[in-house]
Amino acid sequence: MGSVFFEVKGELDNFYLFLRSIEVWLKTGRCHSEILAEQKMSEGELRRPGATIILWLKCEQTVHDERLNARVDSMLKEGLIQELLDFHARHNMHRIQDGKPPDYTKGIFQTLGFKEFHEYLMLSEEERNSEVGKKLLGISIENMKMATRRYARRQNKMIRGRFLQHPTRQVPPIYELDTTDVSRWDELVKSKAIEIIESFLKESPCPIEPLKSEISEEKRNIDGNSYNYCDVCNRVLLGDDIYAIHLKSFRHMRVLKKKKRLEKKSKNAEESLKCD
Ligand SMILES: [Zn+2]
Repeated sequence: MGSVFFEVKGELDNFYLFLRSIEVWLKTGRCHSEILAEQKMSEGELRRPGATIILWLKCEQTVHDERLNARVDSMLKEGLIQELLDFHARHNMHRIQDGKPPDYTKGIFQTLGFKEFHEYLMLSEEERNSEVGKKLLGISIENMKMATRRYARRQNKMIRGRFLQHPTRQVPPIYELDTTDVSRWDELVKSKAIEIIESFLKESPCPIEPLKSEISEEKRNIDGNSYNYCDVCNRVLLGDDIYAIHLKSFRHMRVLKKKKRLEKKSKNAEESLKCD
């Protein structure tokens, strides 16, 4: 009966896999290893060059700032402050009474806004209703809005850094769609997105251009030396000779060995899952 789930090779490590396999079988009626093999294939497909495109919904900064502020306002209207007070009472109050600092590093407390309201949340109900309390609330709200806007800018920067300023060209094409004017959504976002996706699926040329890499040719090619990217170490190496030296270096070998060991380990685990 074991081969319905996977083939048992007697390793205790696989006991948990065995339990998981039974669970998968009960839920889906399918062999676990078969599902794992399928998942691995579709993940591989996604990473294959040319298999992915990115649609980046962008908005003019000032308009985006207004939208973010409006979102904070609607959160406030929906009872954000009361929610923060409740959480604060349940979690941080105990910590503070125990002499520990408030904890903003876990789960809900990482949510934008929590830190910004700390001083206000520390007030008594009476103090909160005073002029000083109200003023502090106003400042907290402004700080939360600012943190939200800053976070949005960081996200944009992250996308640029990762996809447009990446030294290798093996990043998916990224298409910018402008959401600034919502009244033109269908024209500027929806139909463009459909056009991009359709030509991608049909493998026909798309009239809409993806964003260009922000790394200039000069930068790629300083003194005839090219940028090299070591996928193993995730490092940029300027110049072919330096790259060649790197590939033979102790440091590179060590990372490579470690990666191979991990790959082998997961391959072994998969093999013991085979069903016949
Ligand atoms: Zn390396």
